[in-house]
Amino acid sequence: MELERTFDNLSEILQDLSFGSVRRWKEEHPGSKAVAFFPVYAPVEIIHAAGMLPVGLAGAGDKLDIQHADSRFGSFICSIVKTTMEMGMTNHLDAFDGFLFSSICDSARNLCFVFKRNFPQMYVDFLHLPHNSASPASVDFLDAEYRRIIGELERLGGKRINDAALRNSIDLYNLQRKLVRRLYQFRADSPHLLRAWESYLLTRAGNFLPVEEHIATLEGVLSLLKDRPGKRRDSIRVVVEGSFCEQPPLDVIRMLEAAGCDIVEDDFALAQRWFHGDVPSTGDPVRALAESYVRDAVYSSVRHDFAHPRWEGLADKIRNTHAEAVIMLIAKFCEPAYFDYVLFKKKIEEMGLPHLLLEFEEKLFTFDRLRTEVETFVESLVFD
Ligand code: SF4
Repeated sequence: MELERTFDNLSEILQDLSFGSVRRWKEEHPGSKAVAFFPVYAPVEIIHAAGMLPVGLAGAGDKLDIQHADSRFGSFICSIVKTTMEMGMTNHLDAFDGFLFSSICDSARNLCFVFKRNFPQMYVDFLHLPHNSASPASVDFLDAEYRRIIGELERLGGKRINDAALRNSIDLYNLQRKLVRRLYQFRADSPHLLRAWESYLLTRAGNFLPVEEHIATLEGVLSLLKDRPGKRRDSIRVVVEGSFCEQPPLDVIRMLEAAGCDIVEDDFALAQRWFHGDVPSTGDPVRALAESYVRDAVYSSVRHDFAHPRWEGLADKIRNTHAEAVIMLIAKFCEPAYFDYVLFKKKIEEMGLPHLLLEFEEKLFTFDRLRTEVETFVESLVFD
């Protein structure tokens, strides 16, 4: 019962386009700022160490009609870019004092500068993440970029960000990521006790909640899960890949599970488990964050690491979770995901696994076509 109540609360928070949880935090912390970041990754530790609330934007789902944003973008642009713009133009983002974008794709890059032009009173910044992890200059480059962002946030917040505060923030986010990793491990081991839509809510909540609150929520849920009753289902173990930025509607995830998939791994809300291990919290904390980004980040379609190709990352996920199939769940018009589909498909076929390609939009009102495709896919595997 307590678990169900937690999932209901999180679902409400995620659907609240007025960002009530952010407004409440600001009331409880008078004078403090909230800074939103566009997916996929942002150095939340730096924002937190500035005494600000970092919040991951994830579009408006199906809750907002596009009436203004179309005038700022062409037609073939993913939903998250348009609904984020629409939220800005309809005052839904008023709770925020700043916005941080990064170099994940051309659409996100353009959104940053469209924001700057449309909201000149706001702090809007573009974080240049290194494109070549193999280059010896990457850590220095990112270190310098993080120090520039620190200077900007100090100006915005009117206070210095010191190393002790940064180390404290690093420790907190290390703990958060550790708990999310534990949650994923639990789900991979016991998908009948923790459904993917539940773990999705818990993970994505980390984009909204203060990290301290998210940690308490994760600890509470993990302690209850081990005693949760449940019977193993006769399902196919599936890895879902491709939703690293725009997030699929919750009902799509429920539909996949109802159709007979045990989703044992995915790349939803990737920022919540961006590093393989802990970011060191001794020594120079800015350097540690930059080094972890370059050397210890998980694979994704928007981060290039030639020494560790991302198709090998996907292959590891498949092996580690003993998955029997892969579902490529890709946001419509998401170029990075479609480019990688070719590479991932080759690897999946090499491993002898079946896969299914599905496309989603934030505003999907009926899932009939998707449901039929998934049910046919699952049946073909069960009766193979
Ligand atoms: S969903 Fe894809 S195309 Fe759209 S902003 Fe994200 S990475 Fe870029």
